[in-house]
Amino acid sequence: AAKRDGERGMMLFAPPMLAWLTERMQLRAALHRSLRQGDFQLEFQPLRRLRDGRVTGVEALLRWRLPDGSVPASPERFIPVAEESGLIVPLGDWVLDEACRQASRWPDLVVAVNVSAVQFRAGDLARRVAQALERNRLPAHRLELELTESVLIGHEDEALGWLAELRAMGVRLAIDDFGTGYSSLSYLHRFAVDRLKIDRSFMLQMEASSGSGNAAMVATIVQIARRLGLETVAEGVESPATFARLALLGCDIVQGHAVARPMSAEALQHWLTGRSEIVQA
Ligand code: C2E
Ligand code: MG
Ligand code: MG
Ligand code: MG
Repeated sequence: AAKRDGERGMMLFAPPMLAWLTERMQLRAALHRSLRQGDFQLEFQPLRRLRDGRVTGVEALLRWRLPDGSVPASPERFIPVAEESGLIVPLGDWVLDEACRQASRWPDLVVAVNVSAVQFRAGDLARRVAQALERNRLPAHRLELELTESVLIGHEDEALGWLAELRAMGVRLAIDDFGTGYSSLSYLHRFAVDRLKIDRSFMLQMEASSGSGNAAMVATIVQIARRLGLETVAEGVESPATFARLALLGCDIVQGHAVARPMSAEALQHWLTGRSEIVQA
Protein backbone atom coordinates (compact mmCIF):
# COMPACT_ATOMS: atom_id res chain seq x y z
CA ALA A 1 0.00 0.00 0.00
CA ALA A 2 2.91 2.29 0.84
CA LYS A 3 4.32 1.77 -2.61
CA ARG A 4 1.01 2.54 -4.21
CA ASP A 5 0.76 5.69 -2.13
CA GLY A 6 4.27 6.53 -3.16
CA GLU A 7 3.36 6.06 -6.78
CA ARG A 8 0.29 8.15 -6.37
CA GLY A 9 2.48 10.74 -4.69
CA MET A 10 4.71 10.79 -7.74
CA MET A 11 1.70 11.21 -9.96
CA LEU A 12 0.53 14.10 -7.84
CA PHE A 13 3.83 15.86 -7.43
CA ALA A 14 5.83 15.14 -10.55
CA PRO A 15 4.05 17.49 -12.96
CA PRO A 16 4.24 20.60 -10.75
CA MET A 17 7.81 19.73 -9.82
CA LEU A 18 8.71 19.38 -13.46
CA ALA A 19 7.00 22.66 -14.26
CA TRP A 20 8.95 24.33 -11.47
CA LEU A 21 12.27 22.96 -12.74
CA THR A 22 11.50 23.88 -16.33
CA GLU A 23 10.55 27.38 -15.29
CA ARG A 24 13.80 27.79 -13.34
CA MET A 25 15.88 26.57 -16.28
CA GLN A 26 14.09 28.89 -18.67
CA LEU A 27 14.52 31.80 -16.27
CA ARG A 28 18.19 31.01 -15.90
CA ALA A 29 18.77 30.94 -19.66
CA ALA A 30 16.79 34.15 -20.12
CA LEU A 31 18.80 35.87 -17.36
CA HIS A 32 22.07 34.94 -19.06
CA ARG A 33 20.83 36.30 -22.37
CA SER A 34 19.59 39.50 -20.76
CA LEU A 35 22.86 40.15 -18.96
CA ARG A 36 24.67 39.95 -22.31
CA GLN A 37 22.07 42.14 -24.03
CA GLY A 38 21.79 44.74 -21.28
CA ASP A 39 18.14 44.22 -20.36
CA PHE A 40 18.66 45.31 -16.75
CA GLN A 41 18.07 48.74 -15.27
CA LEU A 42 18.27 50.26 -11.85
CA GLU A 43 15.54 52.20 -10.13
CA PHE A 44 16.24 54.44 -7.18
CA GLN A 45 14.13 54.97 -4.08
CA PRO A 46 14.78 58.00 -1.85
CA LEU A 47 15.42 57.77 1.89
CA ARG A 48 14.23 60.67 4.00
CA ARG A 49 15.75 61.65 7.33
CA LEU A 50 13.01 62.46 9.84
CA ARG A 51 14.99 64.94 11.93
CA ASP A 52 15.21 67.57 9.18
CA GLY A 53 13.21 66.11 6.30
CA ARG A 54 16.25 65.83 4.07
CA VAL A 55 16.84 63.19 1.45
CA THR A 56 20.10 61.59 2.46
CA GLY A 57 20.33 58.82 -0.08
CA VAL A 58 18.70 56.37 -2.42
CA GLU A 59 18.50 52.60 -2.63
CA ALA A 60 19.31 51.08 -6.03
CA LEU A 61 16.79 48.38 -6.97
CA LEU A 62 17.35 46.04 -9.89
CA ARG A 63 14.76 45.79 -12.65
CA TRP A 64 14.60 43.28 -15.49
CA ARG A 65 12.91 44.80 -18.53
CA LEU A 66 13.05 43.54 -22.12
CA PRO A 67 13.37 45.92 -25.09
CA ASP A 68 9.61 45.54 -25.77
CA GLY A 69 8.94 46.90 -22.28
CA SER A 70 7.80 43.61 -20.77
CA VAL A 71 8.99 42.50 -17.34
CA PRO A 72 9.86 38.77 -17.29
CA ALA A 73 10.02 38.53 -13.49
CA SER A 74 10.24 40.58 -10.30
CA PRO A 75 13.51 40.69 -8.30
CA GLU A 76 11.92 38.46 -5.69
CA ARG A 77 11.56 35.77 -8.37
CA PHE A 78 14.69 36.17 -10.46
CA ILE A 79 17.29 36.99 -7.81
CA PRO A 80 17.07 33.55 -6.14
CA VAL A 81 17.55 31.97 -9.60
CA ALA A 82 20.54 34.22 -10.29
CA GLU A 83 21.96 33.22 -6.89
CA GLU A 84 21.59 29.48 -7.52
CA SER A 85 23.28 29.72 -10.89
CA GLY A 86 26.08 32.01 -9.74
CA LEU A 87 24.94 34.63 -12.25
CA ILE A 88 24.39 36.99 -9.34
CA VAL A 89 28.17 37.61 -9.25
CA PRO A 90 28.48 39.21 -12.73
CA LEU A 91 24.98 40.69 -12.38
CA GLY A 92 25.96 42.13 -9.01
CA ASP A 93 29.10 43.62 -10.57
CA TRP A 94 26.89 45.35 -13.13
CA VAL A 95 24.63 46.69 -10.35
CA LEU A 96 27.62 48.04 -8.41
CA ASP A 97 29.08 49.71 -11.47
CA GLU A 98 25.78 51.21 -12.63
CA ALA A 99 24.87 52.44 -9.13
CA CYS A 100 28.28 54.14 -8.78
CA ARG A 101 27.96 55.63 -12.26
CA GLN A 102 24.54 57.12 -11.53
CA ALA A 103 25.58 58.26 -8.06
CA SER A 104 28.16 60.60 -9.50
CA ARG A 105 25.20 62.62 -10.93
CA TRP A 106 23.85 63.37 -7.45
CA PRO A 107 26.55 64.99 -5.33
CA ASP A 108 26.42 64.17 -1.64
CA LEU A 109 23.78 61.49 -2.07
CA VAL A 110 24.62 58.06 -0.69
CA VAL A 111 23.67 55.17 -2.95
CA ALA A 112 22.76 51.89 -1.27
CA VAL A 113 23.28 48.63 -3.16
CA ASN A 114 21.88 45.24 -2.17
CA VAL A 115 24.51 42.54 -1.96
CA SER A 116 23.52 38.89 -1.94
CA ALA A 117 25.10 36.35 0.40
CA VAL A 118 26.47 34.57 -2.67
CA GLN A 119 28.36 37.69 -3.77
CA PHE A 120 29.62 38.23 -0.27
CA ARG A 121 30.90 34.68 0.11
CA ALA A 122 32.66 34.77 -3.25
CA GLY A 123 35.30 36.41 -1.06
CA ASP A 124 36.55 39.15 -3.35
CA LEU A 125 33.70 41.59 -2.83
CA ALA A 126 36.04 44.29 -1.49
CA ARG A 127 38.11 44.16 -4.67
CA ARG A 128 35.00 44.28 -6.86
CA VAL A 129 33.64 47.22 -4.88
CA ALA A 130 36.97 49.04 -5.11
CA GLN A 131 36.96 48.58 -8.88
CA ALA A 132 33.43 49.98 -9.25
CA LEU A 133 34.33 53.01 -7.11
CA GLU A 134 37.53 53.66 -9.02
CA ARG A 135 35.99 53.25 -12.47
CA ASN A 136 33.34 55.82 -11.62
CA ARG A 137 35.50 58.01 -9.40
CA LEU A 138 33.01 57.75 -6.57
CA PRO A 139 34.31 58.33 -3.02
CA ALA A 140 33.78 55.22 -0.89
CA HIS A 141 31.63 57.04 1.68
CA ARG A 142 29.00 57.64 -1.02
CA LEU A 143 28.37 53.90 -1.32
CA GLU A 144 26.45 51.80 1.15
CA LEU A 145 26.16 48.02 0.98
CA GLU A 146 23.00 46.34 2.25
CA LEU A 147 23.57 42.86 3.61
CA THR A 148 21.00 40.53 5.12
CA GLU A 149 21.50 38.73 8.39
CA SER A 150 21.88 35.43 6.52
CA VAL A 151 25.22 36.68 5.18
CA LEU A 152 26.62 36.79 8.66
CA ILE A 153 25.13 33.81 10.47
CA GLY A 154 27.24 30.68 10.35
CA HIS A 155 30.17 32.49 8.73
CA GLU A 156 31.02 34.89 11.52
CA ASP A 157 34.79 34.77 11.41
CA GLU A 158 35.06 35.07 7.66
CA ALA A 159 32.35 37.71 7.55
CA LEU A 160 34.06 39.76 10.26
CA GLY A 161 37.20 39.96 8.15
CA TRP A 162 35.37 40.94 5.00
CA LEU A 163 33.29 43.56 6.76
CA ALA A 164 36.42 45.04 8.31
CA GLU A 165 38.03 45.23 4.89
CA LEU A 166 35.03 47.05 3.41
CA ARG A 167 34.85 49.43 6.33
CA ALA A 168 38.52 50.19 6.07
CA MET A 169 37.85 51.30 2.50
CA GLY A 170 35.25 53.76 3.86
CA VAL A 171 32.18 52.02 2.45
CA ARG A 172 29.04 52.22 4.60
CA LEU A 173 27.29 49.06 5.73
CA ALA A 174 23.66 48.34 6.55
CA ILE A 175 21.78 45.26 7.67
CA ASP A 176 18.74 44.82 5.46
CA ASP A 177 15.39 43.28 6.43
CA PHE A 178 16.43 43.43 10.07
CA GLY A 179 14.26 41.41 12.43
CA THR A 180 13.28 38.68 9.97
CA GLY A 181 16.36 36.48 10.08
CA TYR A 182 18.11 34.83 12.97
CA SER A 183 18.33 38.19 14.70
CA SER A 184 20.79 37.93 17.47
CA LEU A 185 21.94 40.75 19.64
CA SER A 186 25.41 39.31 19.97
CA TYR A 187 26.18 39.59 16.27
CA LEU A 188 24.96 43.19 16.18
CA HIS A 189 27.49 43.93 18.80
CA ARG A 190 30.30 42.14 16.94
CA PHE A 191 29.68 43.31 13.41
CA ALA A 192 30.51 46.91 12.85
CA VAL A 193 27.73 48.26 10.67
CA ASP A 194 26.31 51.76 10.37
CA ARG A 195 22.60 51.11 9.98
CA LEU A 196 19.74 48.73 10.58
CA LYS A 197 16.95 48.64 8.04
CA ILE A 198 13.88 47.47 9.92
CA ASP A 199 11.94 45.02 7.81
CA ARG A 200 8.73 46.06 6.12
CA SER A 201 6.74 43.37 7.92
CA PHE A 202 6.92 45.46 11.12
CA MET A 203 5.47 48.47 9.27
CA LEU A 204 2.68 46.26 7.94
CA GLN A 205 1.83 45.35 11.52
CA MET A 206 1.75 49.02 12.42
CA GLU A 207 -0.40 49.94 9.42
CA ALA A 208 -2.83 47.13 10.17
CA SER A 209 -3.68 48.48 13.58
CA SER A 210 -3.23 51.68 15.49
CA GLY A 211 -2.81 49.80 18.79
CA SER A 212 0.41 50.59 20.59
CA GLY A 213 1.41 46.90 20.82
CA ASN A 214 2.24 46.84 17.13
CA ALA A 215 4.78 49.57 17.52
CA ALA A 216 6.57 47.81 20.36
CA MET A 217 8.93 45.84 18.13
CA VAL A 218 9.96 48.90 16.15
CA ALA A 219 10.40 50.90 19.35
CA THR A 220 12.60 48.18 20.82
CA ILE A 221 14.77 47.88 17.72
CA VAL A 222 15.21 51.66 17.63
CA GLN A 223 16.29 51.72 21.27
CA ILE A 224 18.78 48.89 20.86
CA ALA A 225 20.21 50.53 17.75
CA ARG A 226 20.64 53.82 19.60
CA ARG A 227 22.56 52.13 22.38
CA LEU A 228 24.87 50.56 19.83
CA GLY A 229 25.28 53.84 17.97
CA LEU A 230 23.49 52.60 14.86
CA GLU A 231 21.05 54.50 12.68
CA THR A 232 17.63 53.01 11.96
CA VAL A 233 15.82 53.02 8.64
CA ALA A 234 12.18 51.96 8.48
CA GLU A 235 11.43 50.31 5.13
CA GLY A 236 8.12 49.93 3.36
CA VAL A 237 6.41 52.89 5.02
CA GLU A 238 3.20 53.44 3.09
CA SER A 239 0.90 55.65 5.13
CA PRO A 240 1.38 59.17 6.52
CA ALA A 241 0.11 57.85 9.88
CA THR A 242 2.91 55.30 10.14
CA PHE A 243 5.39 57.92 8.98
CA ALA A 244 4.30 60.16 11.85
CA ARG A 245 4.44 57.37 14.41
CA LEU A 246 7.97 56.43 13.36
CA ALA A 247 9.05 59.98 14.07
CA LEU A 248 7.64 59.68 17.57
CA LEU A 249 9.41 56.35 18.07
CA GLY A 250 12.74 57.99 17.29
CA CYS A 251 13.43 56.22 14.03
CA ASP A 252 16.08 58.12 12.03
CA ILE A 253 15.17 57.53 8.39
CA VAL A 254 12.11 56.48 6.43
CA GLN A 255 11.87 54.72 3.08
CA GLY A 256 8.67 53.70 1.34
CA HIS A 257 5.77 54.79 -0.80
CA ALA A 258 4.96 57.49 1.80
CA VAL A 259 8.18 59.20 0.66
CA ALA A 260 8.44 58.04 -2.96
CA ARG A 261 8.29 54.89 -5.06
CA PRO A 262 11.40 53.54 -6.77
CA MET A 263 11.99 55.46 -10.02
CA SER A 264 14.37 55.74 -12.95
CA ALA A 265 17.52 57.85 -12.66
CA GLU A 266 15.90 60.51 -14.87
CA ALA A 267 12.74 60.59 -12.78
CA LEU A 268 14.82 60.87 -9.61
CA GLN A 269 16.69 63.81 -11.09
CA HIS A 270 13.35 65.57 -11.64
CA TRP A 271 12.01 64.55 -8.27
CA LEU A 272 15.06 65.99 -6.52
CA THR A 273 15.10 69.29 -8.40
CA GLY A 274 11.31 69.64 -8.67
CA ARG A 275 10.99 69.55 -4.93
CA SER A 276 14.22 71.47 -4.55
CA GLU A 277 15.34 68.85 -2.09
CA ILE A 278 18.43 69.82 -0.20
CA VAL A 279 20.57 66.81 -0.65
CA GLN A 280 23.04 66.06 2.05
CA ALA A 281 24.70 62.94 3.30
P1 C2E B 1 14.84 45.11 -0.26
O1 C2E B 1 16.29 45.35 -0.41
O2 C2E B 1 14.32 44.95 1.12
O3 C2E B 1 14.14 46.32 -1.01
C1 C2E B 1 12.95 46.93 -0.61
C2 C2E B 1 11.78 46.42 -1.42
O4 C2E B 1 10.57 47.00 -0.93
C3 C2E B 1 11.84 46.81 -2.90
O5 C2E B 1 11.23 45.76 -3.64
C4 C2E B 1 10.97 48.06 -2.94
O6 C2E B 1 10.44 48.33 -4.24
C5 C2E B 1 9.88 47.67 -1.97
N1 C2E B 1 9.21 48.81 -1.36
C6 C2E B 1 9.72 50.04 -1.06
N2 C2E B 1 8.82 50.82 -0.45
C7 C2E B 1 7.70 50.08 -0.34
C8 C2E B 1 6.38 50.34 0.22
O7 C2E B 1 6.08 51.41 0.76
N3 C2E B 1 5.49 49.33 0.13
C9 C2E B 1 5.78 48.13 -0.47
N4 C2E B 1 4.82 47.21 -0.51
N5 C2E B 1 7.01 47.85 -0.98
C10 C2E B 1 7.94 48.81 -0.92
P2 C2E B 1 11.86 45.20 -5.00
O8 C2E B 1 12.46 46.31 -5.76
O9 C2E B 1 10.82 44.35 -5.65
O10 C2E B 1 13.04 44.28 -4.50
C11 C2E B 1 12.79 43.15 -3.72
C12 C2E B 1 14.05 42.59 -3.14
O11 C2E B 1 14.91 42.11 -4.19
C13 C2E B 1 14.90 43.61 -2.39
O12 C2E B 1 14.38 43.80 -1.09
C14 C2E B 1 16.24 42.95 -2.41
O13 C2E B 1 16.32 41.95 -1.41
C15 C2E B 1 16.24 42.27 -3.75
N6 C2E B 1 17.00 43.11 -4.71
C16 C2E B 1 16.59 44.18 -5.43
N7 C2E B 1 17.61 44.67 -6.19
C17 C2E B 1 18.69 43.89 -5.92
C18 C2E B 1 20.06 43.87 -6.38
O14 C2E B 1 20.51 44.73 -7.16
N8 C2E B 1 20.86 42.89 -5.89
C19 C2E B 1 20.41 41.96 -5.00
N9 C2E B 1 21.27 41.02 -4.58
N10 C2E B 1 19.16 41.96 -4.53
C20 C2E B 1 18.30 42.90 -4.99
MG1 MG C 1 17.62 46.55 0.40
MG1 MG D 1 14.92 45.46 2.91
MG1 MG E 1 12.82 43.45 2.14
